[in-house]
Amino acid sequence: MEIPMQTANVTLRVGGKRVAFGFDVPTIPVEPVALLPLFRSITDTLVDIAAEETRARGLSISCRKGCGACCRQLVPISEMEATAIRRLVASLPEPRRSTVVERFERGVARLREAGLLETLRHPESVDAEKAEQVGLDYFAQGVACPFLEDESCSIHPERPLACREYLVTSPASNCTHPSSNRVQCVPVPAKPSRAVRRIGDERAPDFEPWIPMILALDWPVAERSPQNGTTMVARAFAHLTGADIPTPDR
Ligand code: SF4
Repeated sequence: MEIPMQTANVTLRVGGKRVAFGFDVPTIPVEPVALLPLFRSITDTLVDIAAEETRARGLSISCRKGCGACCRQLVPISEMEATAIRRLVASLPEPRRSTVVERFERGVARLREAGLLETLRHPESVDAEKAEQVGLDYFAQGVACPFLEDESCSIHPERPLACREYLVTSPASNCTHPSSNRVQCVPVPAKPSRAVRRIGDERAPDFEPWIPMILALDWPVAERSPQNGTTMVARAFAHLTGADIPTPDR
């Protein structure tokens, strides 16, 4: 069945620039994960603008293919991304699938030994004050992302939104000791990764759900009923901009 689509035209003011997006959105209920390609593309556009502005200020971006220094950090993902990662791993041919699953399992075992697993299983217990320490404790375990191969991302086109938003201007070597005062990130003015994490889990206005990517394969992701595509995109933009955007269901 062909999915009926509607073109959405959105203009955002990003860092003093007006950025126009035009994209097709399903007008019928779809699985949230069906919208992930759209959110990846919006993220890439916003990150490209931020990178361009950074270069215009005379700074250069240190991130290069083959530098996976940041890929030992805790990567927060959304429910729809956890679903996408599960499906991606399940679709890998053998023996690659078993290799990747084993990397996930080894990483989880390491975090369990370090006493971090319970905290990671309960992100709602990690408030803003604790978040940086949890990130540093995670990094200290040296758990490489299961998709990191030869210090490069083996799922680059499908990497999480948080990975897409991470670019630095500080020396790459600083990312091997990632405290906030050593790593200078390119400021992305609006982060779709955070807006998308709110979709489908809008428990409280100040609650920002996240799932540690290393736990994606066995995270108890609730089966979400298909939702109206236009409504989900409108909610994502509402979280992204803080604006009150009317949705078709209200
Ligand atoms: S998904 Fe790719 S970019 Fe993200 S942490 Fe893993 S290897 Fe690095």
